[in-house]
Amino acid sequence: MQIAIAGLGSSGSYLLRLLTNAGFNVSGFDPKREGFYIPCGYAANSNTMKDLLSLVDIEFSRYIESEAGEITFSGSSQKKVRFKSLGLVTFDKNRLEADLLKGCKWERKKLSGSFDLIVDATGISRYFLPAEDDYRMHTTEYLTSLPEKKDFQFNYFPKGSGYFWIFPMGDKYHVGAGSSSMSGIKESLSSYSAEKVVSRDIRLKPLLRSSYEK
Ligand SMILES: Cc1cc2nc3c(=O)[nH]c(=O)nc-3n(C[C@H](O)[C@H](O)[C@H](O)COP(=O)(O)OP(=O)(O)OC[C@H]3O[C@@H](n4cnc5c(N)ncnc54)[C@H](O)[C@@H]3O)c2cc1C
Repeated sequence: MQIAIAGLGSSGSYLLRLLTNAGFNVSGFDPKREGFYIPCGYAANSNTMKDLLSLVDIEFSRYIESEAGEITFSGSSQKKVRFKSLGLVTFDKNRLEADLLKGCKWERKKLSGSFDLIVDATGISRYFLPAEDDYRMHTTEYLTSLPEKKDFQFNYFPKGSGYFWIFPMGDKYHVGAGSSSMSGIKESLSSYSAEKVVSRDIRLKPLLRSSYEK
Protein backbone atom coordinates (compact mmCIF):
# COMPACT_ATOMS: atom_id res chain seq x y z
CA MET A 1 0.00 0.00 0.00
CA GLN A 2 1.36 3.44 -0.98
CA ILE A 3 0.64 6.13 1.60
CA ALA A 4 1.06 9.89 1.09
CA ILE A 5 1.09 12.54 3.79
CA ALA A 6 0.26 16.07 2.63
CA GLY A 7 1.67 18.67 5.03
CA LEU A 8 4.83 18.20 7.08
CA GLY A 9 4.18 20.38 10.12
CA SER A 10 4.40 18.73 13.56
CA SER A 11 1.63 16.22 12.82
CA GLY A 12 2.70 15.23 9.32
CA SER A 13 6.44 15.02 9.99
CA TYR A 14 5.89 12.96 13.15
CA LEU A 15 3.51 10.58 11.38
CA LEU A 16 5.87 10.26 8.41
CA ARG A 17 8.74 9.30 10.70
CA LEU A 18 6.56 6.88 12.72
CA LEU A 19 5.28 5.08 9.60
CA THR A 20 8.70 5.06 7.88
CA ASN A 21 10.29 3.48 10.97
CA ALA A 22 7.50 0.89 11.06
CA GLY A 23 8.32 -0.14 7.46
CA PHE A 24 5.37 1.41 5.59
CA ASN A 25 5.73 2.65 2.01
CA VAL A 26 5.03 6.31 2.80
CA SER A 27 5.98 9.64 1.19
CA GLY A 28 5.55 13.18 2.50
CA PHE A 29 4.84 16.42 0.63
CA ASP A 30 5.08 20.05 1.73
CA PRO A 31 5.86 23.09 -0.46
CA LYS A 32 7.05 25.17 2.53
CA ARG A 33 10.35 26.88 1.67
CA GLU A 34 13.52 25.94 3.54
CA GLY A 35 14.11 28.00 6.68
CA PHE A 36 10.52 29.27 6.83
CA TYR A 37 9.87 30.51 10.38
CA ILE A 38 6.86 28.48 11.44
CA PRO A 39 4.09 30.59 13.06
CA CYS A 40 3.52 29.01 16.49
CA GLY A 41 4.32 29.70 20.14
CA TYR A 42 6.57 26.61 20.33
CA ALA A 43 5.27 25.77 23.82
CA ALA A 44 4.39 22.24 24.89
CA ASN A 45 4.43 19.90 27.84
CA SER A 46 7.85 18.29 27.99
CA ASN A 47 6.61 15.04 29.57
CA THR A 48 4.14 14.41 26.75
CA MET A 49 6.68 15.40 24.09
CA LYS A 50 9.31 13.15 25.65
CA ASP A 51 6.95 10.15 25.54
CA LEU A 52 5.78 10.82 21.96
CA LEU A 53 9.27 11.40 20.59
CA SER A 54 10.74 8.35 22.32
CA LEU A 55 8.55 6.32 19.92
CA VAL A 56 10.64 7.68 17.02
CA ASP A 57 13.98 7.50 18.88
CA ILE A 58 14.29 11.26 19.36
CA GLU A 59 15.43 12.73 22.68
CA PHE A 60 13.16 15.74 23.29
CA SER A 61 15.49 17.42 25.81
CA ARG A 62 17.88 18.30 22.92
CA TYR A 63 15.26 20.74 21.56
CA ILE A 64 14.20 22.55 24.76
CA GLU A 65 14.83 26.32 24.68
CA SER A 66 13.30 27.43 28.01
CA GLU A 67 11.58 25.75 30.95
CA ALA A 68 8.76 27.52 32.79
CA GLY A 69 9.19 28.11 36.51
CA GLU A 70 5.99 29.95 37.42
CA ILE A 71 3.19 30.59 34.94
CA THR A 72 1.12 33.75 35.34
CA PHE A 73 -2.47 34.09 34.20
CA SER A 74 -4.11 37.50 34.29
CA GLY A 75 -6.96 39.28 32.63
CA SER A 76 -9.22 42.26 32.83
CA SER A 77 -11.92 40.39 34.73
CA GLN A 78 -9.84 38.08 36.92
CA LYS A 79 -7.25 38.31 39.66
CA LYS A 80 -3.66 37.55 38.68
CA VAL A 81 -2.96 33.85 39.33
CA ARG A 82 0.51 32.30 39.52
CA PHE A 83 1.27 28.62 39.70
CA LYS A 84 4.22 26.29 39.41
CA SER A 85 4.78 24.71 36.04
CA LEU A 86 4.44 20.95 35.65
CA GLY A 87 6.56 20.69 32.50
CA LEU A 88 5.73 23.67 30.29
CA VAL A 89 8.64 24.39 27.94
CA THR A 90 9.39 26.06 24.64
CA PHE A 91 11.37 24.09 22.09
CA ASP A 92 13.07 24.53 18.73
CA LYS A 93 10.17 23.42 16.56
CA ASN A 94 11.92 24.24 13.27
CA ARG A 95 14.88 21.98 14.09
CA LEU A 96 12.68 19.21 15.48
CA GLU A 97 10.49 19.12 12.37
CA ALA A 98 13.61 19.07 10.14
CA ASP A 99 15.12 16.21 12.17
CA LEU A 100 11.88 14.20 12.03
CA LEU A 101 12.15 14.22 8.23
CA LYS A 102 15.72 12.87 8.13
CA GLY A 103 15.81 9.43 6.53
CA CYS A 104 12.19 9.75 5.33
CA LYS A 105 10.98 10.00 1.75
CA TRP A 106 9.57 13.47 1.13
CA GLU A 107 9.43 16.26 -1.46
CA ARG A 108 9.26 20.04 -1.15
CA LYS A 109 6.07 20.42 -3.18
CA LYS A 110 2.32 19.94 -3.01
CA LEU A 111 1.18 16.35 -3.17
CA SER A 112 1.04 14.90 -6.68
CA GLY A 113 0.73 11.34 -8.00
CA SER A 114 -1.65 8.55 -7.09
CA PHE A 115 -1.70 6.80 -3.73
CA ASP A 116 -3.82 4.20 -1.95
CA LEU A 117 -4.19 6.44 1.07
CA ILE A 118 -3.75 10.19 1.51
CA VAL A 119 -3.41 11.69 4.99
CA ASP A 120 -4.35 15.36 5.12
CA ALA A 121 -1.94 16.95 7.63
CA THR A 122 -2.18 20.42 6.05
CA GLY A 123 -3.41 21.95 9.31
CA ILE A 124 -5.76 24.86 9.02
CA SER A 125 -5.62 24.66 5.18
CA ARG A 126 -7.59 21.35 5.18
CA TYR A 127 -6.43 21.02 1.59
CA PHE A 128 -8.12 17.63 1.03
CA LEU A 129 -10.60 17.51 3.89
CA PRO A 130 -13.91 19.38 3.64
CA ALA A 131 -13.99 22.81 5.27
CA GLU A 132 -15.30 22.88 8.83
CA ASP A 133 -17.30 25.55 10.54
CA ASP A 134 -14.84 25.85 13.42
CA TYR A 135 -14.24 29.21 15.01
CA ARG A 136 -11.15 31.06 13.71
CA MET A 137 -9.10 33.70 15.45
CA HIS A 138 -6.37 35.90 14.01
CA THR A 139 -2.94 35.61 15.57
CA THR A 140 0.29 37.57 15.33
CA GLU A 141 3.52 36.71 17.04
CA TYR A 142 6.88 38.47 17.35
CA LEU A 143 10.29 37.00 18.05
CA THR A 144 11.79 39.69 20.24
CA SER A 145 14.30 40.58 22.94
CA LEU A 146 13.14 42.03 26.26
CA PRO A 147 15.11 44.29 28.59
CA GLU A 148 14.42 42.13 31.66
CA LYS A 149 13.96 38.41 32.22
CA LYS A 150 10.35 37.16 32.22
CA ASP A 151 8.68 33.80 32.84
CA PHE A 152 5.68 32.41 30.90
CA GLN A 153 2.64 34.73 30.95
CA PHE A 154 -0.90 34.74 29.61
CA ASN A 155 -3.14 37.78 29.70
CA TYR A 156 -6.77 37.31 28.74
CA PHE A 157 -8.78 39.90 26.80
CA PRO A 158 -12.27 40.91 28.02
CA LYS A 159 -15.06 38.35 27.52
CA GLY A 160 -12.70 35.61 26.34
CA SER A 161 -12.14 37.41 23.04
CA GLY A 162 -8.52 36.26 22.96
CA TYR A 163 -5.25 36.44 24.85
CA PHE A 164 -1.73 37.81 24.84
CA TRP A 165 1.27 35.65 25.73
CA ILE A 166 4.96 35.95 26.55
CA PHE A 167 7.00 32.75 26.14
CA PRO A 168 10.76 32.72 26.81
CA MET A 169 12.75 31.16 23.91
CA GLY A 170 16.33 30.77 25.08
CA ASP A 171 17.69 34.34 25.31
CA LYS A 172 14.77 35.70 23.21
CA TYR A 173 10.99 35.71 23.60
CA HIS A 174 7.89 34.94 21.63
CA VAL A 175 5.27 37.56 22.36
CA GLY A 176 2.00 37.16 20.59
CA ALA A 177 -1.73 37.52 20.68
CA GLY A 178 -4.75 35.77 19.27
CA SER A 179 -8.12 37.44 19.07
CA SER A 180 -11.28 37.86 17.09
CA SER A 181 -10.23 41.51 16.67
CA MET A 182 -7.12 42.55 14.77
CA SER A 183 -7.06 45.90 16.61
CA GLY A 184 -6.86 44.08 20.00
CA ILE A 185 -3.84 42.15 18.73
CA LYS A 186 -2.11 45.26 17.39
CA GLU A 187 -2.72 47.18 20.60
CA SER A 188 -1.34 44.43 22.85
CA LEU A 189 1.84 44.11 20.75
CA SER A 190 2.37 47.82 20.13
CA SER A 191 5.10 48.27 22.78
CA TYR A 192 7.27 45.40 21.47
CA SER A 193 9.83 45.41 18.68
CA ALA A 194 9.84 42.50 16.24
CA GLU A 195 12.91 40.68 14.95
CA LYS A 196 10.57 38.30 13.12
CA VAL A 197 6.81 38.57 12.66
CA VAL A 198 4.50 35.67 11.89
CA SER A 199 0.78 35.79 11.47
CA ARG A 200 -1.98 33.37 10.60
CA ASP A 201 -5.44 32.28 11.67
CA ILE A 202 -5.88 29.59 14.28
CA ARG A 203 -8.83 27.20 14.23
CA LEU A 204 -10.53 26.56 17.57
CA LYS A 205 -12.90 23.72 18.21
CA PRO A 206 -15.61 25.60 20.11
CA LEU A 207 -16.52 24.51 23.62
CA LEU A 208 -19.19 27.13 24.01
CA ARG A 209 -19.52 29.48 21.04
CA SER A 210 -21.56 32.00 23.05
CA SER A 211 -18.60 32.51 25.39
CA TYR A 212 -16.60 34.45 22.82
CA GLU A 213 -19.18 35.86 20.43
CA LYS A 214 -21.03 39.09 21.05
C1 LIG B 1 0.61 32.23 16.64
C2 LIG B 1 0.37 30.80 17.03
C3 LIG B 1 0.91 30.32 18.22
C4 LIG B 1 0.72 28.99 18.58
N1 LIG B 1 1.31 28.54 19.73
C5 LIG B 1 1.22 27.24 20.06
C6 LIG B 1 1.92 26.73 21.19
O1 LIG B 1 2.65 27.44 21.87
N2 LIG B 1 1.78 25.42 21.49
C7 LIG B 1 0.98 24.58 20.74
O2 LIG B 1 0.88 23.40 21.08
N3 LIG B 1 0.31 25.04 19.65
C8 LIG B 1 0.43 26.33 19.29
N4 LIG B 1 -0.23 26.79 18.17
C9 LIG B 1 -1.01 25.84 17.38
C10 LIG B 1 -0.09 24.98 16.54
O3 LIG B 1 0.74 25.81 15.75
C11 LIG B 1 -0.93 24.07 15.62
O4 LIG B 1 -1.84 23.33 16.40
C12 LIG B 1 0.00 23.10 14.92
O5 LIG B 1 0.95 23.79 14.13
C13 LIG B 1 -0.81 22.19 14.01
O6 LIG B 1 0.11 21.29 13.43
P1 LIG B 1 -0.21 20.61 12.07
O7 LIG B 1 0.96 19.73 11.75
O8 LIG B 1 -1.58 19.99 12.13
O9 LIG B 1 -0.33 21.81 11.01
P2 LIG B 1 0.76 22.91 10.56
O10 LIG B 1 1.85 23.04 11.56
O11 LIG B 1 -0.03 24.12 10.19
O12 LIG B 1 1.36 22.27 9.25
C14 LIG B 1 0.63 22.16 8.07
C15 LIG B 1 1.63 22.03 6.94
O13 LIG B 1 0.89 21.76 5.74
C16 LIG B 1 1.54 22.41 4.67
N5 LIG B 1 0.59 22.50 3.56
C17 LIG B 1 -0.46 23.36 3.40
N6 LIG B 1 -1.10 23.08 2.25
C18 LIG B 1 -0.46 22.01 1.68
C19 LIG B 1 -0.66 21.23 0.51
N7 LIG B 1 -1.66 21.48 -0.34
N8 LIG B 1 0.17 20.19 0.23
C20 LIG B 1 1.19 19.90 1.07
N9 LIG B 1 1.43 20.61 2.21
C21 LIG B 1 0.62 21.64 2.52
C22 LIG B 1 2.00 23.73 5.27
O14 LIG B 1 3.10 24.26 4.51
C23 LIG B 1 2.41 23.31 6.67
O15 LIG B 1 3.80 23.02 6.76
C24 LIG B 1 -0.05 28.12 17.76
C25 LIG B 1 -0.59 28.60 16.57
C26 LIG B 1 -0.38 29.92 16.21
C27 LIG B 1 -0.94 30.41 14.90
